Parts: sequence; structure tokens; C-alpha cells
Amino acid sequence: MNKPKILILGAGYGGMITASRLQKSTVAKDADITLVNKHNYHYQTTWLHEPAAGTLHHDQTRMKIDSVIDTSKINFIKDTVVEIKPEEKRVLLKDTELEYDYLVIGLGWVSETFGIPGVEDHAYSIRSVNSVRLIREHIEYQFANYNRSEEKEEGALTFVVAGAGFTGVEFVGEMTERIPELCEEYDIPRDKVRLVSVEAAPTALPGFDEELVEYAMNVLESRGAEFLINMPIKEVREDGVLLNDDTEIKSNTIVWTTGIRGNPIVEDSGFEAMRGRVKVEKDMRAPGHDDVFIVGDCALIINEETNRPYPPTAQIAIQQAYTVANNLKSLVEGKADMEEFKPDIKGTVASLGGKEAIGVVGSRKLFGNSASVMKKMIDNRYLYLLGGMPLVLKKGKLKMF
Ligand code: FAD
Ligand code: NAD
Repeated sequence: MNKPKILILGAGYGGMITASRLQKSTVAKDADITLVNKHNYHYQTTWLHEPAAGTLHHDQTRMKIDSVIDTSKINFIKDTVVEIKPEEKRVLLKDTELEYDYLVIGLGWVSETFGIPGVEDHAYSIRSVNSVRLIREHIEYQFANYNRSEEKEEGALTFVVAGAGFTGVEFVGEMTERIPELCEEYDIPRDKVRLVSVEAAPTALPGFDEELVEYAMNVLESRGAEFLINMPIKEVREDGVLLNDDTEIKSNTIVWTTGIRGNPIVEDSGFEAMRGRVKVEKDMRAPGHDDVFIVGDCALIINEETNRPYPPTAQIAIQQAYTVANNLKSLVEGKADMEEFKPDIKGTVASLGGKEAIGVVGSRKLFGNSASVMKKMIDNRYLYLLGGMPLVLKKGKLKMF
């Protein structure tokens, strides 16, 4: 009898944990499992603000897929997904095409531009290893070029971060640590450099605990960051941004962190989606597609208490992957009972650079060094789930204090 074919698209948090759970279960022998990813490595998206600013080397955030996935149990293909054809149970890749019996879509996210002119052309996004290497190099170039250029461009040393959500704030935190190092290295007085966080909502980190938001802003302002709050950016230009009140900030470096949408491949392949995210059934399957599971940022789940979507996070992607793997096991075993996905949100912890962070864990508020230690423990826990202690020792954040 032919074994069922399970195809997993994307090796992010959702895809990797699904694959890792399957490889540890009987499904590894009862099904043919294939994992497809653009790169031959898995990177930790949740750390990317650090290599983007240059406070951590990007290699620390990534690992070869075959170093954590047993390729004798899971076939790995390095290729780019182009289109999913759910009616034909086929996936078109750049170099080939694959058939499946069961599909897991874990293709992650793209930056939300809200159609604002100039974002695609002139702003940088903290998206992948490739994109953050470029940001780090671009920032460093601005410093390296400054003293040698006769005409000092107004925006050369002004760094604009669009959006003060968690990604924006974490990146600003890293930049406040990195800028003094770059000033020292390139003989530039600190007061020549501006770091501006521009936020459309009436507060930074909208919806988060107000006391912790104030703490975060005080820490970041004390390190020289400026906040422009209640001020949407309405246009991005080659040489800066235009704000809602028509003022301009000249800048050669605009980092766009105004939220995310699901990978457009999903919507373009005919799945009904909201901002690129598919409102999945309770068992994580796409409505009307009993053979397609969606995991991570491509999936949308409504929090029944607030009637709003859960924010797309690694935390929820990892939990979803457990349910997806369990449900695939049931299907392969011919069982009809599907597990319902029940999020267990432990809290949110955000780094502010150095030894500073803020967070809410359960009902406890954390800030300063204790929050920073908690953040590192969360980062290490994921590595432990994926590759046990050896991976923690190889890639983990071991300097806790
Ligand atoms: P991803 O982890 O983005 O993985 C998608 C994978 O698909 C990638 O490997 C990508 O290369 C691959 N891929 C994409 N397109 C293709 C294609 N066409 N073909 C083949 N492969 C493809 N969440 C938290 O819970 N805690 C945090 O502290 C946190 N910090 C964050 C910090 C930053 C800077 C950012 C940007 C996000 C953070 N998040 C955090 C959110 C979290 O990273 C995302 O929710 C999470 O990455 C979603 O996981 P995923 O598996 O859906 O997608
Ligand atoms: P987000 O949606 O959380 O924040 C985006 C921010 O950009 C919002 O505050 C929004 O008001 C602002 N904004 C939107 N349009 C704007 C405009 N035109 N001009 C200026 N500001 C504008 O998105 P994010 O920060 O990219 O995070 C994406 C997801 O990843 C979220 O679910 C977040 O919770 C998660 N995340 C979590 C952590 C953590 O837990 N430590 C860290 C980073 C990201």
C-alpha cells in the first residue's frame, strides 16, 4: 500500500515544530513526509531585530535544517513555493512540483504596507536573514560614509523606525545599544545621530500594559531615542518620510515595522483570507479543505473572549504545530477524531536592548533585568523544544545576567 504523502511548506516556527513532532512519532514510518523551504537553514524570526541592528551575528539566529531535522525520516527540499493548487493536491515550486495527500502551510508573513506609497521601494523590512544583513550593512555604511563625504546629507545619520509595535520597539532598543558603538568606531559625535520611532496610534505598544509602556519609553529615551506618537507616516520617499501633518523627516534609513499580513501565496492560491491570513477551523484545517492545515502567521484564530484575532506570534505558531502534528497522526491512522486547538498564551516579553526588557507573564509584570532574563529563557526554551540541550548550548543565549 502506498504511504500517504505529507507536505509541509515553510520551515519557520510552525513548519519546523510540525516536522519535528512528526519525526518523533509513528507518522515518520507510516507516511512520506517532505519539508520545503526557501533556504537550507531555519532562522529564528523572533531574534531578527538583533542582527538587523548589528548587536548579534546573524549566524547565531540560524541553523542548518538537516542539523535539527532527521533527513532519513523527513525529506527536505530547498526550493521556493510559487503556487498551491488545492483542487489538484499539487504545489508548484520554482524548480519542480510536488503532490500531496495532506498539506501543511507554514509560509509565514510579509510586511503590511497598507498601500502607503514608497514603502516597497524605499523602506527596509526585518523579515529574514537576507533582509537583516542588508539593514545592518546599510546602517554601517551610513556611518562609514559620513566623515569622508564633503556634503553632509541631512538624513545620513537619521534612522526612522516606522511603527512602535513590538518589532519596532525591540529594534529601537537594539539600535540604542549599537549607535554608541558605531559612533566610537567611525569618530562621530553621538549628537549627530537621530533615532526616531514614529507611531500612528496614541501610544507606543498599543494595547499593552501602560506602566510597562512608559517604562520602555523612558529607558529608550534615556538612551537617545525619540518617539513621535499619534503620527502616522503617509509616504515614504527616497530621502525620508512624510508624516500625516505634512512634516518631513529626512532619512536614508527607514525600517518598516507597521505589522504583518500572511504570505500572499496563500490568498493567491484561492484560500479565502483576511490580510493574507486564513480563518482556520478549530482543528487548524482550512475551511472547505479537509486535507490542508495552516499553521503560524498564515492562520487566523479569533480569541472568543475579545472577539479579536490572536496576535500572530511564534508562541502561538509553536502551539498550533503540536495540534497539527497530532491531527496528522490521527488522519494517517485513519481516525476521524480531530484535536481542537486551544491557545495557552503565557504572556508577552519584549527586549529593549542590553539588559533591559518588559513583559507580562501570567499576571506578573516584569521589567528591567528580570524581564531580560525571562526573554532569554523563552528564546532558549524554543531551542530546547527543537533540538534539546545540544542546540541550546550551540545557539542559545547563555549569558543570562
Ligand atoms: P516564519 O517563522 O516567518 O517562517 C516562515 C518560513 O517560510 C521561513 O523559513 C521562510 O523562509 C519560509 N518561506 C517563506 N516563503 C516561502 C516560499 N515562497 N517558499 C519556501 N519557503 C518560504 N513572536 C513571539 O511569540 N515572541 C517574540 O518574542 C517575537 N519576537 C519577534 C521579533 C521580531 C523582530 C519579529 C519580526 C517577529 C517576532 N515575533 C515574536 C513574531 C514571530 O516571529 C512570528 O509570529 C513567527 O515567526 C511566525 O511563525 P511562522 O512559522 O508562521 O513563520
Ligand atoms: P504590530 O501590529 O504589533 O505593530 C505595528 C505598529 O505600527 C502599531 O503600533 C501600529 O499602530 C503602527 N503603525 C501602523 N501603520 C503606521 C503608520 N502608517 N505609521 C506609523 N505607525 C504605524 O506589528 P509588529 O510590531 O510588526 O509585530 C508583528 C507581530 O509579531 C505581532 O503580533 C507582535 O505581537 C509579534 N511580535 C511579538 C514580539 C514579542 O512578543 N516580543 C516582538 C515582535 C513582534
